[in-house]
Amino acid sequence: MRKILVAGNWKMHGSKAMVDGLLQALLDAGDKSEVVDLAVFPPAVYLQRTQKQLRGSAIAWGGQTLNPAPQGAHTGEISASMLLDFGCRYVLVGHSERRTLYGESDDAVAQRFEAAQRAGLEPVLCVGETLEQRESGETENVVSRQLDSVLSLCGIDSFSSATIAYEPVWAIGTGKTATPDQAQQVHAFIRDKLVAQDDIIGGQVRILYGGSVNGSNAADLFARKDIDGGLVGGASLKAEDFLAIRDAAA
Ligand code: PEP
Repeated sequence: MRKILVAGNWKMHGSKAMVDGLLQALLDAGDKSEVVDLAVFPPAVYLQRTQKQLRGSAIAWGGQTLNPAPQGAHTGEISASMLLDFGCRYVLVGHSERRTLYGESDDAVAQRFEAAQRAGLEPVLCVGETLEQRESGETENVVSRQLDSVLSLCGIDSFSSATIAYEPVWAIGTGKTATPDQAQQVHAFIRDKLVAQDDIIGGQVRILYGGSVNGSNAADLFARKDIDGGLVGGASLKAEDFLAIRDAAA
C-alpha cells in the first residue's frame, strides 16, 4: 500500500512572518498522517525556522535543491549535509525550473540524486515533458531519458528510498492541469518501466503528480491507480488551499 504524499514546493516565496503563519496554520489543522503524509519545501533560508516549528510533528520538510559536492568553493550553493543539519528528510532534484532556468542537465540531476541519497536524504526526482514535446508525441521518450540518467548512475535499488514527481512542464504554474487520464497514463508508464527492473521496488515507489494541483482537482487525480499524491506549487502557499488538497486525500 502506498500512502498519499502531499508536498508543497514554496519556490522563492515567503518571509519570516509568512513562514511562521503558514506552518502554524498547518499544525493547527491537526494530524491526518495515518492516511496522508505532508511535506513542505521552503526556501533554504527558512529551513531553520521550519525545523524549529515542525520538529516533533508529523509534517516533514525538505530542500528545493542541493549541490552534489560535499563541501568546498561553491559560492551560493547548499550541500546535502547542510540540509540534514536542519532536519530535512527530502530534497527536490530535477525540478523543471532548475532544468530550464539554471541549465541542470540529466547528468547534473542524477549527480544530485546520488549525492542526496549518499548523505541520507530522500530525493524527490522531478520529470516531465514540455508542451512541444507532448505535442510531438515525445512524452514517454523524455520521461524515460530523465529516469535512465538516474537509473544508470544509481541503479534501480536507489528507488527504494526515493520519490518521483511527474510534472508536465506545460502544467506547472499555468493553471492547466493534466487530466487524471493523461497523468495516470504517464504514471503507469513510469511504474511499468521500474517494475520491469524490479517489481517490488517499482510497485512501492511513490509517484506524485505536479502541475496546478488544487483543492478541486486533487481528489480525481489521487483516485487514479498510480498517482500517489501531489507536488504542489502555487496552492501550497496558503494553508487553506494546501489543506484542501490534503483533505482530498484523507
Ligand atoms: C511545482 O512547482 O512543482 C508545481 C507543480 O507548481 P504549481 O502547482 O504552481 O503548478
